[in-house]
Amino acid sequence: MALQAHCRRRHRVDILNAIEEVIHVQKQKGILSGDDVFLWRRRNDRFSQRFSSKDTLSLIRTAHPTCDWAKGIWTDSCVFCKAQMETRNHLFFECVFTEKVWSSLTRKLMAPHYTNNWDEIIDQLHHAQREFIMQWLIRYVFQTTLYTIWRERNNRRHGEQANSDKQIIQSVDKQIRNRLTSIRVLGDARYEGGMEKWFSTR
Ligand SMILES: [Zn+2]
Repeated sequence: MALQAHCRRRHRVDILNAIEEVIHVQKQKGILSGDDVFLWRRRNDRFSQRFSSKDTLSLIRTAHPTCDWAKGIWTDSCVFCKAQMETRNHLFFECVFTEKVWSSLTRKLMAPHYTNNWDEIIDQLHHAQREFIMQWLIRYVFQTTLYTIWRERNNRRHGEQANSDKQIIQSVDKQIRNRLTSIRVLGDARYEGGMEKWFSTR
């Protein structure tokens, strides 16, 4: 039991560090290049520009291989609804709480293909035939929502004050606007009308 508890703590730290690192690299890359490069951490500490469906959360599984994943972190219940087990698919975005956030941000954007199922979302991020700016928006909203919810989850686990769904939605919205504003300055024609598109789906 002691080993198991230790593993769980290690898992949490590894997960947090891994995700923080991805955020940091992406932010730096975004500021420097101004394009829609997605840097996802892959196995063996490699970073890839290709948006991988075996993304952020799958790397967590390999973060501490000596621990038994099945007995690890996902045996906890969800911090948002406190009713179901916390799995990847539950957290993103089948939980009643996180679905509210996801739905508010993407229902119009993804229409008529809106979904809150992880695999279907990933599929859409890869394959959907949309104009550049719409696809960029969906991807950017996805990763921003992912990280914002992940941070909220960790904050709640650490006993910090909980943000409401409305506050989380506002936070993501603000991050999207800020990103669109910073892109606009670069004058890249592909992103033209991005802010208007975003407003029209709010
Ligand atoms: Zn839940």
